[in-house]
Amino acid sequence: MSLFVQKFGGTSVASIERIEKIAARIIRAREARHDVVVVVSAMGDETDRLVSLADEVNYDGLDARRELDVLLSTGEQTTIALLAMTLLKHGVKAESVLGWQASILTDSEHGKARVLEIDAAVLQAKISDGVVPVVAGFQGSDEKGHITTLGRGGSDTSAVAIAAALEADRCDIYTDVDGVYTTDPRIAPKATKLARITFEEMLEMASSGAKVLQPRSVAMAMRHDVNLQVRSSFNDA
Ligand code: ASP
Ligand code: MG
Repeated sequence: MSLFVQKFGGTSVASIERIEKIAARIIRAREARHDVVVVVSAMGDETDRLVSLADEVNYDGLDARRELDVLLSTGEQTTIALLAMTLLKHGVKAESVLGWQASILTDSEHGKARVLEIDAAVLQAKISDGVVPVVAGFQGSDEKGHITTLGRGGSDTSAVAIAAALEADRCDIYTDVDGVYTTDPRIAPKATKLARITFEEMLEMASSGAKVLQPRSVAMAMRHDVNLQVRSSFNDA
């Protein structure tokens, strides 16, 4: 029995239909007798929608970063509830878990907070009870309990940080491309897929704009030697 962290990005959870598909994937992993911790992003462009709403408030000049994080973190809260409900419907014991509930402690840099520590015992206890924790990506809380977010694309970092804390066998990032390519396959049809890539090379690609993984997630994976895979949420590649 292995422990897998499975992270699903915004495109993969953009509708109830797609949430059903990833629930089926989670159930397959469980049927293969693996323990699974799920990490999800907000549905589709929800985070962008929330950013635009905040912009409408016109809070220019006011330091509203704390409130912005409270707002932006709601996107992932919606997804964890819907996915946990879907899993429950299929007879899987699942429980939604917010960042603070998973004891994801960050610094206080709202909008680009860094994960300082995760108390693995919280998720471990759920796993031991046969529960699939469905964790909200992109968020944590600081030492004062203020909600923080990890920067755009930060759910990748949440997933890797959780995989490191739990010493998971693998961290799978499910996305709308089926791996890491030499260039963006959604733009360049001749892009070739890399079967393997070193952390250093991946970090360089991510830092120079490859959108497939948040650069910080790669740095975190490198630091903790996390077995990281990028996979398609639409097929088995
Ligand atoms: N929902 C957040 C964003 O759009 C985090 C993520 O998707 O990883 O940036
Ligand atoms: Mg992403």
